Amino acid sequence: NTGQRQRLIAAHTAAAEFYAEQLGTRDAMPAREFLAARGFGPDAARQFGCGFAPAGWDALTKHLRGRGFTNEELVTGGISKAARSGSLIDRFRGRLVWPIRDLGGEVIGFGARRLLDGDDGPKYLNTPESPIYKKSHVLYGVANAKKDIAKQQRAVVVEGYTDVMACHLAGVVTAVATCGTAFGADHIQVLRRLLMDQDEFRGEVIFTFDGDAAGQKAAVRAFEDDQRFVAQTFIAVSPQNMDPCELRLAHGDSAVRDLVARREPLVAFVLRTLLAKYDLDTVEGRVAALRAAAPLVARIKDRALRPEYARKLAGDLGMDLEPVLKAVNEAA
Ligand code: ATP
Ligand code: MN
Ligand code: MN
Ligand code: MN
Repeated sequence: NTGQRQRLIAAHTAAAEFYAEQLGTRDAMPAREFLAARGFGPDAARQFGCGFAPAGWDALTKHLRGRGFTNEELVTGGISKAARSGSLIDRFRGRLVWPIRDLGGEVIGFGARRLLDGDDGPKYLNTPESPIYKKSHVLYGVANAKKDIAKQQRAVVVEGYTDVMACHLAGVVTAVATCGTAFGADHIQVLRRLLMDQDEFRGEVIFTFDGDAAGQKAAVRAFEDDQRFVAQTFIAVSPQNMDPCELRLAHGDSAVRDLVARREPLVAFVLRTLLAKYDLDTVEGRVAALRAAAPLVARIKDRALRPEYARKLAGDLGMDLEPVLKAVNEAA
């Protein structure tokens, strides 16, 4: 119900203010150092609303109770949780926090990074599922990016909070990230709606990966799962296997813009990754590569795209088009 939604958003807005104030305190030194080490000064911290969750047990819980929020609201929103003793404690402690906003710009949750090696818990923690926080839909940065996503007909999907910050500061203002969850069908829907142009989905969704195996597997999975948007899906792989934040630190803003400019269509990326596993200098290698690649090309439903990729595959393999088309048709 909308009353509850308003209350939970009010609690999160107050929590974000509290965290942001804490970022200026002495105890928050490691948080400021973390940001600085990644190329983010006070202006960037302010722009993205970064904050610090103090290490004590219940500073935020007490603060929000004093503001009139009930235990039930704080638990339902995921801001606080019940300790074994039964009393409420803060969910995020001793962490750098990023407020996560919905499409309308309201704070609905937080991402929180551990700062000290001795701290408990995983490196990143997120707000749990709540009436206002649906992790399958949430995209960090979407409130900032949505106008430009629509205008540029392009969305850039990165892995983390620091990558979104780096991209925006580098001028890639269409960057968004999932928050501690894999990019899925619901995220596609959110982006599609922003990219709709006169009842048609035409824009580009560009995934950046840090070049590790997990990222590539995710790309192949996305391709296999959802064929509808294959022609609109692009991959940008950092040549040095860096994420956008690392890339900006090492090579500056222009390197981040170049990464996006050098994007590759998903199908081309998948084929290239596959062919790289074979020795194309031998007949046996080429035949094995064709056998592996034919089902991928066969899976391309777009009728204009499929023969183009059959032609490209033939070229990559140094084969005539005819046997490649035959293999593709047999694999279909
Ligand atoms: P850092 O440089 O501090 O490691 P990063 O943003 O590069 O930060 P990655 O390890 O590349 O962090 O992770 C990217 C994103 O994946 C994070 O922003 C976070 O949303 C998510 N993530 C990473 N590790 C975890 C984890 N242990 N639990 C949940 N989500 C995580
Ligand atoms: Mn990674
Ligand atoms: Mn990273
Ligand atoms: Mn990193």
